Amino acid sequence: MKKSTTTNTSAIPSAKPEGLVCPKCGCCHLPVIYTRLRRNYILRARQCRHCERRMFTREIP
Ligand SMILES: [Zn+2]
Repeated sequence: MKKSTTTNTSAIPSAKPEGLVCPKCGCCHLPVIYTRLRRNYILRARQCRHCERRMFTREIP
């Protein structure tokens, strides 16, 4: 039996920032403006291409 449902509806998208959309305009073009290495995770700052809103995502390696 195969279980391939990966729709985990958690509040914070931590591992995969794919499918991330701007909460302001709904744009999905959010290029990374800088990356910071933390002890336990990688912090990425992204900026919306349309409204220039900045947001941070955490990636756990
Ligand atoms: Zn936006």
